[in-house]
Amino acid sequence: MGAYRLAVMDGDGIGPEVIASVRTLLTALNDMEPGIDLTPVDLPVGLAAYERGGNTLPASTLAALETCDGWILGPLTTHQYAGPAMPNISAVLRKRFELFANIRPARSYPGIEALYSNVDVVVVRENTEGFYADRNLLNGTGELMPTPDTVLSVRVVTQRACERLARAGFDLARRRSGHVTLVHKANVLRLGCGLFLDTCRAVAADYPDMRVDDFHVDAFAMHLVMRPRDFDVIVTTNLFGDVLSDLSAGLIGGLGLAPGLNAGHERAMAQAVHGSAPDIAGRGIANPIASILSLAMLLDWLGTTHADPNASNLGARLQTAVETVLATGRVRTPDLGGSATTADMTAAIVGALG
Ligand code: ATP
Repeated sequence: MGAYRLAVMDGDGIGPEVIASVRTLLTALNDMEPGIDLTPVDLPVGLAAYERGGNTLPASTLAALETCDGWILGPLTTHQYAGPAMPNISAVLRKRFELFANIRPARSYPGIEALYSNVDVVVVRENTEGFYADRNLLNGTGELMPTPDTVLSVRVVTQRACERLARAGFDLARRRSGHVTLVHKANVLRLGCGLFLDTCRAVAADYPDMRVDDFHVDAFAMHLVMRPRDFDVIVTTNLFGDVLSDLSAGLIGGLGLAPGLNAGHERAMAQAVHGSAPDIAGRGIANPIASILSLAMLLDWLGTTHADPNASNLGARLQTAVETVLATGRVRTPDLGGSATTADMTAAIVGALG
């Protein structure tokens, strides 16, 4: 029997609300599948952990994470983090544990009004370097202020990171339509994006059965809005991937429906695309679906890496339950045009699990 310890970290803003839904689903899944044992391990992080113990990422949490098989992290209000006792948890975990590919699918759902139907794309975003200043140097940050009116932002692009990202993208495409789109700005950022593009193309040579194309990120943003159904797996650098995954979420009904998985070779962390949504935090109306679908992705990852069909099946059942609830249209949180609460939506998904 597959037994998994899953770290569960609330995060900030709407984090405790949507992660409470994930806990409810974990309990329901555990009860319904005797062939699997999912043990949630609650670990403090974020502003609440800082208030209690003086650090957003306590050493005890870091140590406990090492003992878990998979992790679930809520969103973070990182703009309120400042100083060495308030590290950006996502950044530290992604970098330290080499969760190098941020896999962010955006799929149309029946019954959800959006610009298009039948969109099905996945952004595979580099997760450990790029322009994100808090993770691209061993010490210090990649943003420097030599004078009060000047800032230099350093972007890091390494062949190793591009290569492992590209392999993740091509492996994923092999399980989908076999089409990979590389997104870059190599016409201007010639060295950095040039290295990204050359490395991805070299990896493509190992996947001769794949269809590969590439676009400059600015033009691609237009193509993705105008003809999203022409794309499948989108492999790109950190900042571009962050922007394009929010754009993709906008194509299918919004951030409330957009899940994500931070994946490495050894570990994976479920984390929705959205942020901590301070504008709606504490009201019990956040859409939990992005986090619940992120859990489904983690279960699928556990199933694949542990050759455990029970875990993959549970992930698929969870995905189907979400689709069923959305298709019937009776329960809608405010972001989807309804008035249901986070708890209503969670209960409906538990009910649809059958
Ligand atoms: P970050 O930079 O941390 O990703 P952000 O600036 O992109 O954050 P979000 O916190 O993701 O911003 O919020 C963007 C908008 O989407 C807000 O209006 C927010 O209320 C809405 N939103 C985000 N997540 C959800 C959700 N789960 N349910 C409903 N609305 C959401």
